[in-house]
Amino acid sequence: MSALKKKVNFKFFTALNVKHPQVHIKRNLNLQEYHSKDLLRKHQVTIQDFRVLDTNLDTKPLSDFKANEYVVKAQILAGGRGKGHFDNGFKGGVHLTKKSDEIITLAKSMLGHKLITKQTPKEGIMVDKVMVAESVNIKRETYLSIIMERSYNGAALVASPAGGMDIETVAEETPHLLKTVPIDIYEGVTDKVANEIADFLEFKGPLRTKCAEEIKKIWQLFLKVDATQLEINPLVETDDGKVVAVDAKINFDDNAKFRQADIFALDDVSETDPREREAAAQNLVYIDMDGSIGCMVNGAGLAMATMDLINLNGGKPANFLDLGGGVGQSQVSAALKILESDPKVKTIFVNVFAGIVNCATIANGIVAACKENPPKHPLVIRLEGTNSAAARKILEESGLPVTILNDADEAAKTAVKLAQQ
Ligand code: GDP
Ligand code: MG
Repeated sequence: MSALKKKVNFKFFTALNVKHPQVHIKRNLNLQEYHSKDLLRKHQVTIQDFRVLDTNLDTKPLSDFKANEYVVKAQILAGGRGKGHFDNGFKGGVHLTKKSDEIITLAKSMLGHKLITKQTPKEGIMVDKVMVAESVNIKRETYLSIIMERSYNGAALVASPAGGMDIETVAEETPHLLKTVPIDIYEGVTDKVANEIADFLEFKGPLRTKCAEEIKKIWQLFLKVDATQLEINPLVETDDGKVVAVDAKINFDDNAKFRQADIFALDDVSETDPREREAAAQNLVYIDMDGSIGCMVNGAGLAMATMDLINLNGGKPANFLDLGGGVGQSQVSAALKILESDPKVKTIFVNVFAGIVNCATIANGIVAACKENPPKHPLVIRLEGTNSAAARKILEESGLPVTILNDADEAAKTAVKLAQQ
């Protein structure tokens, strides 16, 4: 079920053997709920009408907004808000109220405070916006998502009549309540599939037809916006016979940025680790961890091997900075600065096995960065492959106090030892 945990690229971390709930990497654009709901509405998916308040607490958006009951929801890029709590002690990121004057009191308890849920880092995520929606009377909560799933070489619909709860738990404890149907990208969601899912979700009579219609519209949206995941949890049945998407989370394929410019412009970077943002701007991948060794590597495979070497030698990585292939000197310098800026880092370990990458470029990048800002931490460098002899010469002639080693294990051991001093 790892593909369902799409906030983080869990496959990568599973491969890295990291059980690290605080790791917060955004590989695919993720939007706030109110932006995702705007997209749902544009594609005629049934949602609750809503307004958005921010920290200014300007109530103008509410002046023409009347409902019997309101639901006030903290907007953060993580789920589990309903069961979460705030750093000010306030419980729950989703609240119902029948009194319009209570909306502001609830919003005040949320805005400007950090919300901590099962899916956020330990310290929580700052709330700068709340959604105020007209509440619906929920009879039943179901789960519906569409994901791009490697094992199907395409999209799949995932459905469960047990909605509103953590779908991972449903998958583990009651797998018979979970149905996955691969979708042919050309055929799309047919009436047959939509009805089959509506049946599985236990929508009966006219509700079955309504649910099937919603599923088909959700599929159209998924296709249109180049989503990698679109999750509605819960998709509810209301007491007045409606099928409503009450919560929404959409991830988008970063490769589609060029044709989804409007959507990517909505990217809320305020929640992204600044080091990750800076790395992304340089076309590098930064992964934050909780150890003390900053790692510069090339490729996910070598990242995994480096992780193992560090762990086997009794250390822990503080982060990974993946240079990838074809990296230039200025990117290497930027990478080193990013690693240096992490307060957890005690030692920096550069472990590169160069094929396409040129070791001399990396050495030049390191030397340039160190000349500009003398390194605060010991640097252990292992550069193997293309132009490694030239790289060694550049590093040696620079006079920088770096440790150059050819053997990866020995280098890891040295990095661990230096980090412990
Ligand atoms: P999450 O906790 O981050 O997944 O946020 P959701 O939007 O899914 O809300 C959590 C839960 O609050 C839902 O599963 C519902 O049980 C409840 N909830 C959300 N919106 C409404 C609403 O409009 N009316 C009612 N009665 N309950 C709601
Ligand atoms: Mg939800």
